[in-house]
Amino acid sequence: MAGMLYLVPTPIGNLGDISQRCRETLEAADFIAAEDTRVSLKLLNHLNIKKPLVSYYEHNRAESGQRILERLLAGETCALVSDAGSPAISDPGEDLVALCAQNGVTVSAIPGPCAVITALSMSGLPTGRFTFEGFLSTNKKSRQEHLQSLAAEQRTMVFYEAPHKLTNTLNDLLAAFGPERRISLCRELTKLHEEVIRTTLQGAVDYYREQDPRGEYVLVLEGAAPPPVTELTLEDALSLVAEKLAQGLSRKDAVKLVAKETGFAKNALYDAAMKQL
Ligand code: SAM
Repeated sequence: MAGMLYLVPTPIGNLGDISQRCRETLEAADFIAAEDTRVSLKLLNHLNIKKPLVSYYEHNRAESGQRILERLLAGETCALVSDAGSPAISDPGEDLVALCAQNGVTVSAIPGPCAVITALSMSGLPTGRFTFEGFLSTNKKSRQEHLQSLAAEQRTMVFYEAPHKLTNTLNDLLAAFGPERRISLCRELTKLHEEVIRTTLQGAVDYYREQDPRGEYVLVLEGAAPPPVTELTLEDALSLVAEKLAQGLSRKDAVKLVAKETGFAKNALYDAAMKQL
């Protein structure tokens, strides 16, 4: 019988955030696949866990993924960890999960530290609907295409960014979304200098003119305001019906179409059209 792949989240700063279940899963696994074995070894030493480690990262994921799959198919259990946070979220793991899914290996994800959710929840911006955008590309063209695709996005948007690229990214966000758009810059989450700067894009650009960005950042950006709802009167709706009649539609079809477009009740619109048109 095939073994299991466990996705084990690790602290994004505060070592106290490792859960009991994560410890137990790491202890019970036959082996641990790690993004950087040196980073994970430090955590395992802190937890007093000794396990064989294999490396699984961006540039060896094809070969290493295949070797891990073979061991899983042979019945072993693997715990996958990344350097920090939840594996497969802007971290290696996505491909391994897909490979397991394609080959009938069960994958189980343990909930735990994840910078996107930690930042979103404390951003002060709407959390009901959001989109995770990961890192913006460093390639100018794909970066612009990405930002353009978000021009009308109404959901809160979450980005990851490295400190040395922050100023550049804030300038690009300012150009794409305008100075008034609210942003929460969530830095050093769960660490000693954890901070949330709730400001606007202009405020953020001005702030970092005075000082250099330091530490790790998640940017939580307010979505676009919904377009204003125009209040249509029955007269407006009837004019639309008249237009459709002039285009050759039957009264029934014209009413049906306008009712769908405007939200007016079909029967009321039909009665009014019978009387007035
Ligand atoms: N898999 C991880 C997760 O679950 O959040 C994300 C890994 S991604 C390679 C690293 C990025 O996550 C950083 O560049 C930063 O944007 C964000 N990040 C990770 N830890 C953070 C922290 N403690 N505070 C703020 N942002 C953090």
